[in-house]
Amino acid sequence: MDCVLISHPDCLEHRPGDRHPESPARLQTVLAELERSGVTRKWQRVEAPLVTRAQLERVHNAAYLDEVERVAPKTGSYRLESDTVMSPGSLAAASRAAGAVVQGVDLVMSGRAKAVFCATRPPGHHAKPGDAMGFCIYGNVAVGAAHALATHGIERVAIADFDVHRGNGTELMFRREPRVLMADSFQHPYYPRGEFPERAGYIPLRMAAGEGSDAFRRHWKEVALPKLRAFRPQLVLISAGFDALRDDPLANIELEAADYRWITHELRDIAEASAQGRIVSTLEGGYGLPAIGPAVAAHLMALGDCSV
Ligand SMILES: [Zn+2]
Repeated sequence: MDCVLISHPDCLEHRPGDRHPESPARLQTVLAELERSGVTRKWQRVEAPLVTRAQLERVHNAAYLDEVERVAPKTGSYRLESDTVMSPGSLAAASRAAGAVVQGVDLVMSGRAKAVFCATRPPGHHAKPGDAMGFCIYGNVAVGAAHALATHGIERVAIADFDVHRGNGTELMFRREPRVLMADSFQHPYYPRGEFPERAGYIPLRMAAGEGSDAFRRHWKEVALPKLRAFRPQLVLISAGFDALRDDPLANIELEAADYRWITHELRDIAEASAQGRIVSTLEGGYGLPAIGPAVAAHLMALGDCSV
C-alpha cells in the first residue's frame, strides 16, 4: 500500500451554485483524468472518513463549528460569507475533505502508505479558526497537521502550499506553532488582500501577475526548498492548488503541468531525506477545466513511485 488515493462521493454533493467556480465538475474532471491516464492504476483507493469534532477543534473555534452545523441547510443554500455557500451536501463534503487528510496522515505515520493524495472538495486553506472564507469551510490541511502533531509524537511538520492564492487560513492557525513550517507561493497583490511578512514558521513567495514557470521554480528553489530541507520535517503536507495553471479563469500565473511535476518531485525529495518519504497532498483550488486534470496527474506522477 505505497500510494493511496483518498476520495468520497459525498465531495461531489457540495453544490455552491451553478455559476460558482468551485464546482463538482472540478473533482469529476480530476478523477476522470486520473482514470483515463492510468496514473493511479496501482494506487490503493480509500474512502474518506468523516472528520471528528475533536479533530476540528484543534484548529477551529467551537463557536464556529456550532454555527456551521446550525446553518447547514436541509434545502436551498446558505451563504457563510460572500464566496462560501453551503448546500444540503456541503457539511458532509467538508467533513470528508478534512477527514481525508487526517486519514492520510494516519496511513503514512503508521507506515501503511508513503504517498497519499486526497481528491476532495471543498478546499480548505482560506478557512480561519472562526470563519469560512474563499470557498473553504474547514482548514483541511491544518486539521491534518494538527492531528499529526497531537497523535503521532512528531515535532516538525512542513506544509507546502502552491495554490495561486495565499494560504492565509493555514498560516493563521499555526502562527504560534513552532513545530510547523509553511512555504506558500501566491500571486500578489491578489486575493486575499494584505501584507504578509516572512516570520519564523512562514515563508511567503510572492509572484506578480504574468510570471510563469521560471519565476515559480526560482522562488521555490532559491528561497523555500533550502529552508524546508534544513527544517528536517518528519512529515510533508501539500496544499495542492492548480489555479496557477496557464488560463485559469481566476488567476494570472502561467504555470504548465510540468511545473507541478517538478515542485512535487522536489518536495518528495525532502520527504525522503528526513520524513521516511511520508507525504500527504490535498486538493485546494484549480478552476480551468479540463486543464487541471493533466496537472493533477503530473502531480501524482511525482508524488508516489507507484505511478505509471
Ligand atoms: Zn486558489
